[in-house]
Amino acid sequence: MKISIIGTGYVGLTTSVGLASKGHDVICLDIDRKKVDKINSGITPIFEEGMEGLLKQILEKKKLMATTDTRFAILNSDVSFIAVGTPSNDDGSMNLDYIKKASGDVGAVLKNKDSYHVFAVKSTVVPGTTEEIVKREIEKVSGKKAGKDFGLCMCPEFLKEGVALKDFLSPNRVVIGELDKKSGDVLEEIFKDFNSPVLRTQIKTAELIKYASNALLATKISFSNEIGNLCKKLGLDVYDVMKGVGMDDRINEKFLNAGCGYGGSCFPKDVKAIIKKAEEAGCTPKLLYAVEEVNEQQKKRIVEMAEEKLGDLSGKNFGLLGLAFKPGTDDIREGPALVIIRELLKRGCVIHAHDPKAMKNMRKVFPDINYHETPEDVLKNCEICGIVTDWPEFRDIDLGHFKNKQVFEGRKILKDGIVKEGICW
Ligand code: NAD
Repeated sequence: MKISIIGTGYVGLTTSVGLASKGHDVICLDIDRKKVDKINSGITPIFEEGMEGLLKQILEKKKLMATTDTRFAILNSDVSFIAVGTPSNDDGSMNLDYIKKASGDVGAVLKNKDSYHVFAVKSTVVPGTTEEIVKREIEKVSGKKAGKDFGLCMCPEFLKEGVALKDFLSPNRVVIGELDKKSGDVLEEIFKDFNSPVLRTQIKTAELIKYASNALLATKISFSNEIGNLCKKLGLDVYDVMKGVGMDDRINEKFLNAGCGYGGSCFPKDVKAIIKKAEEAGCTPKLLYAVEEVNEQQKKRIVEMAEEKLGDLSGKNFGLLGLAFKPGTDDIREGPALVIIRELLKRGCVIHAHDPKAMKNMRKVFPDINYHETPEDVLKNCEICGIVTDWPEFRDIDLGHFKNKQVFEGRKILKDGIVKEGICW
């Protein structure tokens, strides 16, 4: 099928590469010229295992190209996935500017296109957005009617950064929210050889499935952190406790790892957005308020622990291992490292940091802290060390480098054999 992807960030690029690898002809559309040039020359603007190699293969086979030209993308495709960002506004609500602008842009081209075209929203959007913003905007600008002249679906994305391609190509489920059967059939055809169950539903339900899923995962993390903080007081290891809890197949063992709190581009903003939507609908989402509150406190825990143990931290050399919000990605958005660095700077610490992938991104936010090429260099320069991201390579650090350091483990990763204090163990 001929497919265009509008917005080629994390989700858009993964969708593009994934669908092209399945044999579809894909056009990536983005407003960012630099991203487009990179993609066309086989360089992925984000780090994701396996992505660059696959992109190069696909480019050679001429199954994918990137452009900034909306007209070209829409006229040369039959289906478009809209995957632009939906960041938070200051009040936590979802910023609809990108999705509205993208809908207007495609509507302007659709006006002069005679053949049937299906638009599928892949961005995470609060219930009502696809029909009230995307549909309305495309109809207004194109003068055409959804369900008659063009198709409309909402197809939420559940990929995890770090294993994005694998998740995209073998999802637990494909959810297709459809305006009408004809639109849904087109999308189902695209996903027919994914070997994953397909759930077809109405558009608003698909929109809420995404939020309910992320809110539940965030709840599991905050729950584990709360039990973890109790474990710490009781002298127990939360990992031992959660191992027993997760053996219950009604619960399962995933997302029960206590640590420095959740971050990334999705959970924080999605929990905020669904809280806001619930409030607008006249509900009081008490559980989700608590999920957020526990998470915000948890991000500061490692600094508080260091302070409780060592007193005044000013002037101390504080090493941080891990800046990405999780291993396998260079994404630092809303990650605990941002809060930890801010708290340490407030206390007058000198910060030494290392991350295998995320230093470039962190440098843009904190250009003046000390970045080191290896974890060993961080350890040479600090007397206190905090483990923030559980990159597997930190497990291999020679324990000798930790000698005479105060080590606070925000993620359980280090080998046994050194004195260290865990955040919840
Ligand atoms: P991103 O910020 O990495 O990428 C968005 C891209 O859209 C950017 O490259 C931007 O230049 C482009 N863009 C903006 N307006 C445009 C327009 N009018 N036309 C063409 N391109 C335009 O965002 P992301 O992380 O890929 O997330 C996209 C959506 O998917 C969000 O709603 C997010 O919540 C959701 N989502 C993200 C993930 C994730 O792990 N990142 C997972 C599931 C769902």
